[in-house]
Amino acid sequence: MGAQEDTGFSTRQVHAGAQAAPASPRTTPIYLTAGFTFSDLDESAAHFSTGSGFGYSRTGNPTVQAVEERIASLEGGDQAILVSSGQAAVTVALLGLLDAGDHIVVSEHIYEGTRGLLLDNLSRLGITVTFVETADLDAWRAAIRPRTKALFAETLSNARNDVLDVSAVAAIGAERGIPLVVDSTFTTPYLLRPIEHGAALVVHSASKFLAGQGAVLGGVIVDDGRFDAAASGHLSPHLVGTDRLGGPSYAEKHGRRARGAYLRESVAPRFGPSPSPLNAFLIGQGVETLSLRVERQSANALAVAHWLESRPEVERVDYVGLPSHPHHALGRRYLARGSGSVFTVTLRGGLEAARHVVQSVRLITHMTHLGDVRSLILHPQSTSHSARTVAERERAGVFPGTLRLSIGIEDVDDIVADLAQALEGLASLARGGDRTDAADRGTVREVAVL
Ligand SMILES: *Cc1c(COP(=O)(O)O)cnc(C)c1O
Repeated sequence: MGAQEDTGFSTRQVHAGAQAAPASPRTTPIYLTAGFTFSDLDESAAHFSTGSGFGYSRTGNPTVQAVEERIASLEGGDQAILVSSGQAAVTVALLGLLDAGDHIVVSEHIYEGTRGLLLDNLSRLGITVTFVETADLDAWRAAIRPRTKALFAETLSNARNDVLDVSAVAAIGAERGIPLVVDSTFTTPYLLRPIEHGAALVVHSASKFLAGQGAVLGGVIVDDGRFDAAASGHLSPHLVGTDRLGGPSYAEKHGRRARGAYLRESVAPRFGPSPSPLNAFLIGQGVETLSLRVERQSANALAVAHWLESRPEVERVDYVGLPSHPHHALGRRYLARGSGSVFTVTLRGGLEAARHVVQSVRLITHMTHLGDVRSLILHPQSTSHSARTVAERERAGVFPGTLRLSIGIEDVDDIVADLAQALEGLASLARGGDRTDAADRGTVREVAVL
Protein backbone atom coordinates (compact mmCIF):
# COMPACT_ATOMS: atom_id res chain seq x y z
CA MET A 1 0.00 0.00 0.00
CA GLY A 2 2.93 2.32 0.77
CA ALA A 3 3.32 3.61 -2.79
CA GLN A 4 -0.27 4.89 -2.82
CA GLU A 5 -0.18 6.76 0.46
CA ASP A 6 0.21 10.23 -1.03
CA THR A 7 -2.01 9.71 -4.06
CA GLY A 8 -5.54 11.03 -4.51
CA PHE A 9 -8.77 9.46 -3.28
CA SER A 10 -9.84 7.94 -6.60
CA THR A 11 -6.39 6.42 -7.11
CA ARG A 12 -6.36 4.89 -3.65
CA GLN A 13 -9.87 3.47 -4.01
CA VAL A 14 -8.60 1.17 -6.79
CA HIS A 15 -5.00 0.58 -5.61
CA ALA A 16 -4.78 0.72 -1.82
CA GLY A 17 -4.54 -2.73 -0.25
CA ALA A 18 -4.16 -4.45 -3.63
CA GLN A 19 -1.21 -6.76 -4.26
CA ALA A 20 0.72 -6.16 -7.47
CA ALA A 21 3.32 -8.94 -7.61
CA PRO A 22 4.27 -9.92 -11.19
CA ALA A 23 2.19 -12.72 -12.75
CA SER A 24 -0.29 -12.68 -9.87
CA PRO A 25 -4.05 -12.01 -10.13
CA ARG A 26 -4.70 -8.28 -10.55
CA THR A 27 -7.80 -8.43 -8.36
CA THR A 28 -7.35 -9.73 -4.82
CA PRO A 29 -8.57 -13.35 -5.00
CA ILE A 30 -11.44 -14.59 -2.86
CA TYR A 31 -9.74 -16.71 -0.21
CA LEU A 32 -12.90 -18.68 0.51
CA THR A 33 -11.46 -20.87 3.23
CA ALA A 34 -12.06 -21.42 6.92
CA GLY A 35 -8.36 -21.62 7.67
CA PHE A 36 -4.77 -21.63 6.44
CA THR A 37 -2.15 -24.37 6.66
CA PHE A 38 0.87 -23.94 8.94
CA SER A 39 4.24 -25.04 7.59
CA ASP A 40 5.66 -26.07 10.96
CA LEU A 41 5.11 -25.92 14.70
CA ASP A 42 7.05 -22.69 15.14
CA GLU A 43 4.86 -20.95 12.58
CA SER A 44 1.63 -22.03 14.29
CA ALA A 45 3.04 -21.06 17.69
CA ALA A 46 4.09 -17.65 16.37
CA HIS A 47 0.65 -17.12 14.86
CA PHE A 48 -1.05 -17.83 18.18
CA SER A 49 1.33 -15.72 20.26
CA THR A 50 1.85 -12.69 18.02
CA GLY A 51 -0.95 -12.90 15.44
CA SER A 52 1.57 -13.15 12.58
CA GLY A 53 0.33 -14.61 9.27
CA PHE A 54 -3.07 -16.14 8.70
CA GLY A 55 -4.52 -19.02 10.72
CA TYR A 56 -8.29 -18.96 10.72
CA SER A 57 -10.64 -16.68 8.76
CA ARG A 58 -12.38 -15.37 11.87
CA THR A 59 -9.12 -13.71 12.96
CA GLY A 60 -7.75 -12.78 9.55
CA ASN A 61 -8.12 -13.48 5.83
CA PRO A 62 -6.17 -11.98 2.90
CA THR A 63 -9.30 -10.90 0.97
CA VAL A 64 -10.70 -9.24 4.06
CA GLN A 65 -7.36 -7.63 4.89
CA ALA A 66 -7.03 -6.09 1.41
CA VAL A 67 -10.43 -4.40 1.82
CA GLU A 68 -9.55 -3.26 5.34
CA GLU A 69 -6.35 -1.61 4.10
CA ARG A 70 -8.20 0.10 1.27
CA ILE A 71 -10.91 1.53 3.52
CA ALA A 72 -8.40 2.60 6.22
CA SER A 73 -6.48 4.48 3.52
CA LEU A 74 -9.61 6.21 2.17
CA GLU A 75 -10.69 7.24 5.69
CA GLY A 76 -7.24 8.54 6.62
CA GLY A 77 -7.35 6.11 9.56
CA ASP A 78 -4.77 3.80 11.06
CA GLN A 79 -6.57 0.48 10.66
CA ALA A 80 -9.97 -0.86 9.60
CA ILE A 81 -11.82 -3.92 10.84
CA LEU A 82 -14.31 -5.44 8.44
CA VAL A 83 -17.33 -7.18 9.99
CA SER A 84 -20.48 -8.85 8.73
CA SER A 85 -22.90 -5.87 8.83
CA GLY A 86 -23.17 -2.22 9.75
CA GLN A 87 -25.06 -3.25 12.85
CA ALA A 88 -22.09 -5.45 13.83
CA ALA A 89 -19.72 -2.53 13.25
CA VAL A 90 -21.66 -0.32 15.67
CA THR A 91 -21.93 -3.14 18.21
CA VAL A 92 -18.23 -4.06 18.07
CA ALA A 93 -17.13 -0.41 18.29
CA LEU A 94 -19.29 0.21 21.36
CA LEU A 95 -18.38 -3.08 23.07
CA GLY A 96 -14.74 -2.06 22.67
CA LEU A 97 -15.37 1.11 24.67
CA LEU A 98 -18.14 0.44 27.19
CA ASP A 99 -18.16 -1.65 30.36
CA ALA A 100 -21.27 -2.73 32.24
CA GLY A 101 -22.66 0.33 34.02
CA ASP A 102 -21.06 2.86 31.70
CA HIS A 103 -22.78 5.78 29.98
CA ILE A 104 -22.82 7.10 26.43
CA VAL A 105 -24.02 10.41 24.96
CA VAL A 106 -25.75 9.94 21.62
CA SER A 107 -27.35 12.18 19.03
CA GLU A 108 -31.10 11.78 19.01
CA HIS A 109 -31.01 11.48 15.22
CA ILE A 110 -29.60 8.03 14.68
CA TYR A 111 -30.36 4.88 12.77
CA GLU A 112 -33.16 2.88 14.39
CA GLY A 113 -31.03 -0.27 14.66
CA THR A 114 -28.45 1.64 16.72
CA ARG A 115 -31.16 3.19 18.86
CA GLY A 116 -32.63 -0.25 19.53
CA LEU A 117 -29.18 -1.67 20.33
CA LEU A 118 -28.71 1.02 22.98
CA LEU A 119 -32.21 0.96 24.42
CA ASP A 120 -33.00 -2.77 24.31
CA ASN A 121 -29.67 -4.63 24.25
CA LEU A 122 -26.81 -2.64 25.78
CA SER A 123 -29.28 -1.45 28.42
CA ARG A 124 -29.27 -5.06 29.69
CA LEU A 125 -25.58 -4.60 30.51
CA GLY A 126 -26.54 -1.56 32.58
CA ILE A 127 -25.23 0.80 29.91
CA THR A 128 -27.20 4.05 30.00
CA VAL A 129 -27.76 6.61 27.25
CA THR A 130 -28.43 10.32 27.13
CA PHE A 131 -29.83 11.51 23.81
CA VAL A 132 -29.04 15.06 22.69
CA GLU A 133 -29.86 17.29 19.73
CA THR A 134 -26.98 16.94 17.24
CA ALA A 135 -26.40 20.68 16.91
CA ASP A 136 -26.72 21.55 20.62
CA LEU A 137 -23.08 21.64 21.73
CA ASP A 138 -23.97 22.71 25.27
CA ALA A 139 -26.22 19.66 25.58
CA TRP A 140 -23.35 17.34 24.54
CA ARG A 141 -21.11 18.86 27.20
CA ALA A 142 -23.79 18.92 29.92
CA ALA A 143 -24.67 15.26 29.33
CA ILE A 144 -21.17 13.99 30.14
CA ARG A 145 -20.88 12.08 33.45
CA PRO A 146 -17.95 10.46 35.24
CA ARG A 147 -18.72 7.13 33.54
CA THR A 148 -19.31 8.52 30.05
CA LYS A 149 -17.04 6.43 27.80
CA ALA A 150 -18.09 7.55 24.32
CA LEU A 151 -19.94 10.16 22.28
CA PHE A 152 -21.83 8.83 19.25
CA ALA A 153 -23.46 10.49 16.24
CA GLU A 154 -24.04 10.14 12.52
CA THR A 155 -22.38 12.52 10.08
CA LEU A 156 -25.61 13.15 8.23
CA SER A 157 -28.83 11.94 9.77
CA ASN A 158 -31.97 10.29 8.54
CA ALA A 159 -34.57 11.79 8.29
CA ARG A 160 -33.79 15.46 8.85
CA ASN A 161 -30.39 15.51 7.14
CA ASP A 162 -28.78 17.17 10.18
CA VAL A 163 -25.02 17.64 9.81
CA LEU A 164 -22.73 16.71 12.68
CA ASP A 165 -20.20 19.40 13.59
CA VAL A 166 -17.54 16.71 13.93
CA SER A 167 -14.67 18.87 15.16
CA ALA A 168 -16.82 20.70 17.75
CA VAL A 169 -18.25 17.50 19.26
CA ALA A 170 -14.86 15.72 19.09
CA ALA A 171 -13.32 18.65 20.98
CA ILE A 172 -15.94 18.37 23.74
CA GLY A 173 -15.04 14.70 24.16
CA ALA A 174 -11.32 15.42 24.02
CA GLU A 175 -11.60 17.77 27.03
CA ARG A 176 -12.17 14.60 29.12
CA GLY A 177 -10.38 11.98 27.00
CA ILE A 178 -13.70 10.62 25.66
CA PRO A 179 -13.63 9.30 22.08
CA LEU A 180 -16.16 10.41 19.47
CA VAL A 181 -17.56 7.52 17.41
CA VAL A 182 -19.09 8.59 14.11
CA ASP A 183 -21.40 6.56 11.89
CA SER A 184 -20.39 7.89 8.49
CA THR A 185 -22.59 5.62 6.36
CA PHE A 186 -24.46 8.49 4.66
CA THR A 187 -21.39 10.49 3.70
CA THR A 188 -18.72 7.84 2.89
CA PRO A 189 -15.03 8.78 3.03
CA TYR A 190 -15.43 10.41 -0.37
CA LEU A 191 -17.58 13.21 1.07
CA LEU A 192 -16.27 13.40 4.65
CA ARG A 193 -13.41 11.88 6.65
CA PRO A 194 -14.35 12.34 10.31
CA ILE A 195 -10.92 11.24 11.61
CA GLU A 196 -9.42 14.33 9.94
CA HIS A 197 -11.81 16.39 12.10
CA GLY A 198 -11.00 14.68 15.40
CA ALA A 199 -13.25 11.59 15.52
CA ALA A 200 -11.57 8.56 17.11
CA LEU A 201 -13.59 5.83 15.43
CA VAL A 202 -15.62 5.76 12.24
CA VAL A 203 -18.19 3.07 11.49
CA HIS A 204 -20.02 2.32 8.27
CA SER A 205 -22.71 0.08 7.02
CA ALA A 206 -20.71 -1.21 4.04
CA SER A 207 -24.01 -2.66 2.78
CA LYS A 208 -24.85 0.83 1.58
CA PHE A 209 -22.57 3.10 -0.48
CA LEU A 210 -19.30 1.18 0.04
CA ALA A 211 -20.60 -2.02 -1.59
CA GLY A 212 -22.96 0.19 -3.57
CA GLN A 213 -24.96 -2.35 -5.52
CA GLY A 214 -27.24 -3.82 -2.91
CA ALA A 215 -25.87 -7.37 -3.13
CA VAL A 216 -24.19 -7.90 0.25
CA LEU A 217 -24.19 -6.81 3.86
CA GLY A 218 -21.04 -5.64 5.56
CA GLY A 219 -19.73 -3.20 8.10
CA VAL A 220 -16.44 -1.58 8.93
CA ILE A 221 -14.84 0.16 11.90
CA VAL A 222 -11.90 2.49 11.32
CA ASP A 223 -9.67 3.49 14.23
CA ASP A 224 -7.62 6.67 14.20
CA GLY A 225 -4.53 5.14 15.85
CA ARG A 226 -4.34 8.10 18.26
CA PHE A 227 -5.16 6.39 21.57
CA ASP A 228 -3.56 8.45 24.33
CA ALA A 229 -3.10 6.41 27.52
CA ALA A 230 -2.34 9.55 29.55
CA ALA A 231 -5.59 11.27 28.50
CA SER A 232 -7.93 8.28 28.15
CA GLY A 233 -6.37 5.47 30.20
CA HIS A 234 -8.60 6.16 33.20
CA LEU A 235 -11.64 5.49 30.96
CA SER A 236 -10.12 2.34 29.45
CA PRO A 237 -8.98 -0.09 32.15
CA HIS A 238 -9.18 -2.90 29.58
CA LEU A 239 -6.53 -1.15 27.47
CA VAL A 240 -4.11 -0.06 30.18
CA GLY A 241 -4.43 -2.98 32.64
CA THR A 242 -2.36 -6.17 32.46
CA ASP A 243 -3.91 -9.07 30.57
CA ARG A 244 -5.59 -12.08 32.25
CA LEU A 245 -2.21 -13.81 32.76
CA GLY A 246 -0.50 -10.70 34.08
CA GLY A 247 1.13 -9.90 30.72
CA PRO A 248 1.58 -6.44 29.18
CA SER A 249 -1.48 -4.26 28.49
CA TYR A 250 -2.77 -3.37 25.03
CA ALA A 251 -1.36 0.12 25.53
CA GLU A 252 2.07 -1.32 26.34
CA LYS A 253 1.98 -3.68 23.38
CA HIS A 254 0.36 -1.42 20.78
CA GLY A 255 0.84 2.16 21.98
CA ARG A 256 -1.45 4.54 20.14
CA ARG A 257 -2.93 1.65 18.17
CA ALA A 258 -4.24 0.03 21.38
CA ARG A 259 -7.92 0.72 20.78
CA GLY A 260 -7.88 -0.65 17.22
CA ALA A 261 -5.81 -3.66 18.29
CA TYR A 262 -8.29 -4.45 21.06
CA LEU A 263 -11.22 -4.31 18.63
CA ARG A 264 -9.38 -6.55 16.16
CA GLU A 265 -7.94 -9.08 18.60
CA SER A 266 -10.48 -9.19 21.39
CA VAL A 267 -13.90 -7.82 20.44
CA ALA A 268 -14.58 -8.69 16.78
CA PRO A 269 -13.27 -12.30 16.82
CA ARG A 270 -14.77 -13.12 20.23
CA PHE A 271 -18.26 -11.75 19.64
CA GLY A 272 -17.76 -13.23 16.19
CA PRO A 273 -19.46 -11.21 13.39
CA SER A 274 -16.84 -12.27 10.83
CA PRO A 275 -17.29 -11.15 7.23
CA SER A 276 -17.46 -13.77 4.49
CA PRO A 277 -14.41 -13.45 2.18
CA LEU A 278 -16.87 -13.47 -0.72
CA ASN A 279 -18.74 -10.48 0.71
CA ALA A 280 -15.44 -8.77 1.46
CA PHE A 281 -14.44 -9.19 -2.18
CA LEU A 282 -17.70 -7.61 -3.37
CA ILE A 283 -17.26 -4.69 -0.94
CA GLY A 284 -13.73 -4.21 -2.26
CA GLN A 285 -15.07 -4.15 -5.83
CA GLY A 286 -17.72 -1.66 -4.83
CA VAL A 287 -15.22 0.66 -3.19
CA GLU A 288 -13.28 0.88 -6.48
CA THR A 289 -16.08 3.01 -7.97
CA LEU A 290 -17.10 4.85 -4.77
CA SER A 291 -16.08 8.37 -5.82
CA LEU A 292 -17.78 8.07 -9.21
CA ARG A 293 -21.03 6.80 -7.77
CA VAL A 294 -21.24 9.23 -4.86
CA GLU A 295 -20.37 12.19 -7.07
CA ARG A 296 -23.14 11.24 -9.50
CA GLN A 297 -25.61 10.35 -6.77
CA SER A 298 -25.02 13.67 -5.00
CA ALA A 299 -25.50 15.62 -8.24
CA ASN A 300 -28.67 13.67 -9.05
CA ALA A 301 -30.00 14.08 -5.50
CA LEU A 302 -29.47 17.84 -5.59
CA ALA A 303 -31.32 18.12 -8.90
CA VAL A 304 -34.20 15.94 -7.69
CA ALA A 305 -34.42 17.82 -4.38
CA HIS A 306 -34.53 21.19 -6.18
CA TRP A 307 -37.25 19.91 -8.49
CA LEU A 308 -39.33 18.49 -5.64
CA GLU A 309 -39.04 21.72 -3.67
CA SER A 310 -40.68 23.59 -6.56
CA ARG A 311 -43.70 21.27 -6.73
CA PRO A 312 -47.08 22.34 -5.33
CA GLU A 313 -47.72 18.85 -3.86
CA VAL A 314 -44.62 19.18 -1.67
CA GLU A 315 -44.61 20.72 1.79
CA ARG A 316 -40.89 20.42 2.56
CA VAL A 317 -37.68 18.81 1.36
CA ASP A 318 -35.03 18.05 3.99
CA TYR A 319 -31.82 17.90 1.95
CA VAL A 320 -28.75 19.64 3.29
CA GLY A 321 -27.63 20.47 -0.25
CA LEU A 322 -30.55 22.92 -0.54
CA PRO A 323 -30.05 26.50 0.69
CA SER A 324 -33.40 26.15 2.54
CA HIS A 325 -31.92 23.52 4.92
CA PRO A 326 -31.01 24.90 8.39
CA HIS A 327 -27.61 23.14 8.27
CA HIS A 328 -26.77 24.18 4.72
CA ALA A 329 -23.84 26.39 5.79
CA LEU A 330 -22.40 23.68 8.06
CA GLY A 331 -22.89 21.21 5.23
CA ARG A 332 -20.85 23.38 2.88
CA ARG A 333 -18.04 23.39 5.43
CA TYR A 334 -17.93 19.61 5.82
CA LEU A 335 -19.38 18.35 2.54
CA ALA A 336 -17.59 20.31 -0.16
CA ARG A 337 -17.87 17.49 -2.72
CA GLY A 338 -21.62 16.94 -2.44
CA SER A 339 -24.34 16.25 0.09
CA GLY A 340 -24.97 12.57 -0.54
CA SER A 341 -27.99 10.88 -2.02
CA VAL A 342 -30.41 10.34 0.87
CA PHE A 343 -33.07 12.85 1.89
CA THR A 344 -36.74 13.15 2.74
CA VAL A 345 -39.64 14.87 1.06
CA THR A 346 -42.90 15.56 2.88
CA LEU A 347 -46.07 15.68 0.80
CA ARG A 348 -48.96 17.99 1.62
CA GLY A 349 -51.44 15.15 1.17
CA GLY A 350 -50.22 13.19 4.22
CA LEU A 351 -50.34 9.40 4.49
CA GLU A 352 -52.62 8.84 1.49
CA ALA A 353 -50.39 10.93 -0.76
CA ALA A 354 -47.31 9.03 0.48
CA ARG A 355 -49.08 5.71 -0.06
CA HIS A 356 -50.01 6.73 -3.59
CA VAL A 357 -46.46 7.78 -4.49
CA VAL A 358 -44.65 4.66 -3.16
CA GLN A 359 -47.20 2.50 -4.98
CA SER A 360 -47.03 4.51 -8.22
CA VAL A 361 -43.31 4.83 -8.83
CA ARG A 362 -42.10 2.55 -11.63
CA LEU A 363 -38.37 3.22 -11.95
CA ILE A 364 -37.74 3.94 -8.27
CA THR A 365 -37.79 0.81 -6.10
CA HIS A 366 -39.91 0.63 -2.96
CA MET A 367 -37.60 -1.00 -0.41
CA THR A 368 -35.67 -0.49 2.81
CA HIS A 369 -32.08 0.14 1.81
CA LEU A 370 -30.01 3.11 0.72
CA GLY A 371 -26.81 4.03 -1.06
CA ASP A 372 -27.66 1.73 -3.96
CA VAL A 373 -26.92 2.49 -7.63
CA ARG A 374 -30.70 2.28 -8.06
CA SER A 375 -33.05 4.95 -6.69
CA LEU A 376 -35.08 3.72 -3.72
CA ILE A 377 -38.08 5.03 -1.77
CA LEU A 378 -39.52 4.23 1.67
CA HIS A 379 -42.25 5.57 3.97
CA PRO A 380 -40.42 6.14 7.31
CA GLN A 381 -43.46 6.62 9.55
CA SER A 382 -44.70 3.07 8.91
CA THR A 383 -41.25 1.44 8.62
CA SER A 384 -37.89 2.74 9.88
CA HIS A 385 -39.44 5.14 12.41
CA SER A 386 -42.47 3.07 13.47
CA ALA A 387 -40.94 2.29 16.90
CA ARG A 388 -41.00 5.98 17.88
CA THR A 389 -43.72 8.08 19.44
CA VAL A 390 -45.43 10.72 17.32
CA ALA A 391 -43.49 13.45 19.15
CA GLU A 392 -40.17 11.64 18.58
CA ARG A 393 -41.01 11.16 14.91
CA GLU A 394 -41.88 14.82 14.46
CA ARG A 395 -38.59 15.83 16.10
CA ALA A 396 -36.85 13.56 13.59
CA GLY A 397 -38.68 15.23 10.69
CA VAL A 398 -40.95 12.23 10.03
CA PHE A 399 -44.60 13.04 9.30
CA PRO A 400 -47.39 10.93 7.76
CA GLY A 401 -46.62 12.38 4.31
CA THR A 402 -42.83 11.97 4.54
CA LEU A 403 -40.96 9.76 2.09
CA ARG A 404 -37.25 8.91 2.15
CA LEU A 405 -35.45 8.83 -1.14
CA SER A 406 -32.05 7.34 -1.84
CA ILE A 407 -31.12 8.61 -5.26
CA GLY A 408 -29.19 6.31 -7.58
CA ILE A 409 -26.95 6.78 -10.60
CA GLU A 410 -29.71 6.63 -13.23
CA ASP A 411 -30.21 9.49 -15.71
CA VAL A 412 -31.65 12.22 -13.56
CA ASP A 413 -34.36 13.07 -16.10
CA ASP A 414 -35.73 9.57 -15.73
CA ILE A 415 -35.83 9.83 -11.93
CA VAL A 416 -37.64 13.16 -12.13
CA ALA A 417 -40.04 11.82 -14.78
CA ASP A 418 -40.91 8.88 -12.54
CA LEU A 419 -41.62 11.14 -9.56
CA ALA A 420 -43.56 13.49 -11.82
CA GLN A 421 -45.89 10.73 -13.01
CA ALA A 422 -46.34 9.55 -9.41
CA LEU A 423 -47.16 13.08 -8.23
CA GLU A 424 -49.51 13.64 -11.19
CA GLY A 425 -51.80 11.01 -9.72
CA LEU A 426 -52.15 13.05 -6.52
CA ALA A 427 -54.40 15.55 -8.28
CA SER A 428 -56.93 12.85 -9.14
CA LEU A 429 -56.45 11.36 -5.64
CA ALA A 430 -57.47 14.72 -4.19
CA ARG A 431 -60.58 14.66 -6.42
CA GLY A 432 -61.38 11.12 -5.26
CA GLY A 433 -60.79 9.65 -8.74
CA ASP A 434 -57.90 7.34 -7.93
CA ARG A 435 -59.15 6.22 -4.53
CA THR A 436 -60.44 2.70 -5.31
CA ASP A 437 -57.56 2.05 -7.65
CA ALA A 438 -55.05 2.88 -4.90
CA ALA A 439 -56.94 0.74 -2.39
CA ASP A 440 -56.98 -2.21 -4.82
CA ARG A 441 -53.24 -2.16 -4.99
CA GLY A 442 -53.04 -2.96 -1.29
CA THR A 443 -51.74 -1.08 1.69
CA VAL A 444 -48.28 0.02 2.65
CA ARG A 445 -46.89 -2.79 4.79
CA GLU A 446 -46.79 -1.51 8.36
CA VAL A 447 -43.85 -3.68 9.35
CA ALA A 448 -40.72 -2.28 10.93
CA VAL A 449 -37.82 -3.58 8.88
CA LEU A 450 -34.62 -1.99 10.10
C1 LIG B 1 -28.00 0.56 7.40
C2 LIG B 1 -27.36 1.35 8.48
C3 LIG B 1 -26.78 0.72 9.58
C4 LIG B 1 -26.82 -0.77 9.78
O1 LIG B 1 -26.12 -1.41 8.77
P1 LIG B 1 -26.46 -2.89 8.25
O2 LIG B 1 -25.39 -3.14 7.25
O3 LIG B 1 -27.84 -2.85 7.67
O4 LIG B 1 -26.37 -3.80 9.43
C5 LIG B 1 -26.16 1.52 10.54
N1 LIG B 1 -26.14 2.86 10.42
C6 LIG B 1 -26.70 3.50 9.37
C7 LIG B 1 -26.63 4.98 9.31
C8 LIG B 1 -27.33 2.77 8.37
O5 LIG B 1 -27.91 3.40 7.34
